[in-house]
Amino acid sequence: MAVRRPLIALIAAALLFGPASAAVAAPPDPAERGPAAASPRGQSDTEMPFGVGPGQRGRSADAPGRKPSQPAATAKLPGKPRNDVIVDVPVELTDASIPLNLIPYHDIPAALRNLQRSNRISVEVIGQSVLGRDLHLVVATAPMSDAQWKTWQQLSDLRINDPHAAQAKLAAGAYANWRTPLFVNNNIHGNEWEGTDASLQILQDLAFSTDPAIVDMLNKHVFAFVVTNNPDGRVAATRANANGFDMNRDFITASQPEVRAVRAQLVRYSPLTMLDIHGYVNCTLIEPTTGPHGDNYEYDLYIKHALRNALSMERAVLATGETRASCVNSDGTRRNDIPFRDRTQGWDDWPPIFTPMYAMYHGAIGHTIEVPLNPRGNLTVAERHERTRINTAVAAATIRGNFEYATQNREELLANQLEWFRRGVDGEPTRPIDDPLAISLARGDNLKTHLQDFARAYVIPAGKDQRSATAAARLVQFMLDNDLEVQRASRPFKLGGTHYEAGTYVVDMRQAKRGLASTLLGVGRDVTNDFNAMYDISAWSHGHLWGATVQQVDGNVKLDDKALRPVTEARATGSVPPGKQSHYGLVVDSVAGIQAVNKLLNDGVRLSRTADGTFVVPGDVAVVRQVAEAYGVEFIRMTPPQVRNTTGVSKTRLGVAANGGEIFALQQMGFQPISVTHTAFNNGILSFADFDAFFVSTTAFNPLSLNATQAAAFNQWLADGGTIVGRGSSGKQFNDRAGLLDVTIAAGRSDANGIVKVVNDPASPITGNALPTAFVDAPQYFTRVGDGVRVDQRLAAEGFFLAGHWGGQEAAAGHAVVVSGVAKGANVTLFGTEPLFRAHPEGLYPQVAAALWW
Ligand SMILES: [Zn+2]
Repeated sequence: MAVRRPLIALIAAALLFGPASAAVAAPPDPAERGPAAASPRGQSDTEMPFGVGPGQRGRSADAPGRKPSQPAATAKLPGKPRNDVIVDVPVELTDASIPLNLIPYHDIPAALRNLQRSNRISVEVIGQSVLGRDLHLVVATAPMSDAQWKTWQQLSDLRINDPHAAQAKLAAGAYANWRTPLFVNNNIHGNEWEGTDASLQILQDLAFSTDPAIVDMLNKHVFAFVVTNNPDGRVAATRANANGFDMNRDFITASQPEVRAVRAQLVRYSPLTMLDIHGYVNCTLIEPTTGPHGDNYEYDLYIKHALRNALSMERAVLATGETRASCVNSDGTRRNDIPFRDRTQGWDDWPPIFTPMYAMYHGAIGHTIEVPLNPRGNLTVAERHERTRINTAVAAATIRGNFEYATQNREELLANQLEWFRRGVDGEPTRPIDDPLAISLARGDNLKTHLQDFARAYVIPAGKDQRSATAAARLVQFMLDNDLEVQRASRPFKLGGTHYEAGTYVVDMRQAKRGLASTLLGVGRDVTNDFNAMYDISAWSHGHLWGATVQQVDGNVKLDDKALRPVTEARATGSVPPGKQSHYGLVVDSVAGIQAVNKLLNDGVRLSRTADGTFVVPGDVAVVRQVAEAYGVEFIRMTPPQVRNTTGVSKTRLGVAANGGEIFALQQMGFQPISVTHTAFNNGILSFADFDAFFVSTTAFNPLSLNATQAAAFNQWLADGGTIVGRGSSGKQFNDRAGLLDVTIAAGRSDANGIVKVVNDPASPITGNALPTAFVDAPQYFTRVGDGVRVDQRLAAEGFFLAGHWGGQEAAAGHAVVVSGVAKGANVTLFGTEPLFRAHPEGLYPQVAAALWW
């Protein structure tokens, strides 16, 4: 089925379709993409298909600063105003899709233009990949006038803004003709291709079929398809994107542009169902999952439809007659793999890092689909093509099965979603599973849920004297980007007996998507004893790991409506003390603070540090004002005694032997890390004289593998006061091989991870100002610390494990997790924690920066 045409055919097709012809075969030009490409958060514009409607809920289309993502794209196509012009991209003969007989990325634009011939279709560019490839959203529905779209959008928004009113309208029949949004995401893992091909097949039918059943569906739904969420990975046959991120672990962090682009569409539609199509699991895997189930979902509402929808998809897959796509039961019948029904553990929905689990927080019945047959590796051409043919047919069957279920149960699904949101605004606790089918089919402990009674509110202080107002603004903006409601105090107020300053943020948990607010701001739970095996991580928390102060308010307290105003945008403005100062101080307690210091150092400003780690900036008020404004950081007054005994700091020339996530995090902070290996030093490609510091968390840089000349150079570099930061077991191994700090390390279970309570040494330049929490993954802790080694941070002696999964955690209580010291003349810091893990725990970044600047 692959749409593979020679270039000449592409040109011919483009000529047929008119406006796109001007751009045929033009190389991608970043300037063509317009202002959105430079958007700091990578947010795409969110105009409605066919051009009408305010887009993102609660934010009007004329919000300041929002510009069309593609100026050229607003040109009118016949019958489809503002349907984007899809330009061609250069043919890449090395596209990994080609030998699989699947559609290469360079053939997608022509396929989309062909779909655009239908007045049921709009195609939008919703963002760009790391390497600049366009991400496409195709929306299919029966044609609507601008006025009809406006009504559609109003009823869509009402679900979240006022679920009670929406329920009343549903009962009165006002939603009878409202088209429910259904969402399909494809190819987020670049080397799991077939969802894209299947979706293009389905779209062909949705665009052109006259089959009454399909026409009926088009009148009942708005179908939204992300054609490929990872075009760079599709072309290169990599699971990750070009930054090395597994994006199906990034949805709750949204560090990657491809994730932010799709997140904005999930926010825009709050779809009723959501499929995320992957591969490759024998028998074809269709969620719902095993336990533990996320505490913040309305799981009883979810499972009722998730299970029935899965059974509908299973029937559709079995109906394909592809025997290699299913397994045989003992009675000779066939089945797919539905983990809730067929497994006891290890395929859970606990962390909302996964795309469908994240979508559940927007009210979707979310499913991961795993098509069955791995086409990678050493196969004959015929077998490879047969596998991708079957996988494509299976993916298409699941999409059809899902759409059929949603069509047959349209009003029930909508009522279910409104009930989900209503519980949020009414502040009700979650409920146990009461569905007879789920009760009868659940395997093992998969029926168990942990009932959640939500906080009344979360308070995020952001007044003048608060720890990191910058981090507070960052967190609030992140919540707004996730469609959450946040308020801000216009004057001082009281809540739960505590006084707060003006400027304080308040998250009223009585809101439709409170489950998402809870999972972002709460700490989570220790699930070690719930299930033995977890699929991926078991803890995350923006409230506890992002650096802002977040306070939970429980009980039935009343919020001060007069003091609180809804927030539509949060940005720290930064500040500079008035008057002429000889020096300014900067306390680095946020990513923005690190970025500000690196900006000043890169610009050649001479900085120094006080003993407590405060940066001292010479009194050029213009420079300081500019940085305060650009990064939203607060400069403070420094008295003459405070600036007397400071140490000079210069730009850090940083070498790294680290994973992709860590390198990305270091770049986020404004460092310019260069990957190093012992081989590159031995070959003379790299020289120790070109580095000030090394961050080591892999074995790519082994000091014992340096030749005699380079070993001597390395020892001289250490003696000259170099800086080493080691992380994890490989960092400790580097330390031992280089003969640095005298410490003994112990390892927790390799699959353990979570949020830990820590005690910091207030005198430490690395952790003196650090958060009281940290993140561990495959935890390492120091059981013996030799002479001259400082313990910067240790696990709390009691109750240190706040959330996550760590069998055998007791052995680590009270032990050191960050240590430092001077060895062979070098400043050495070792982390047993994971301060840069997948670019998530931003509030821990300042510890790494401090260690590098030490
Ligand atoms: Zn996958």
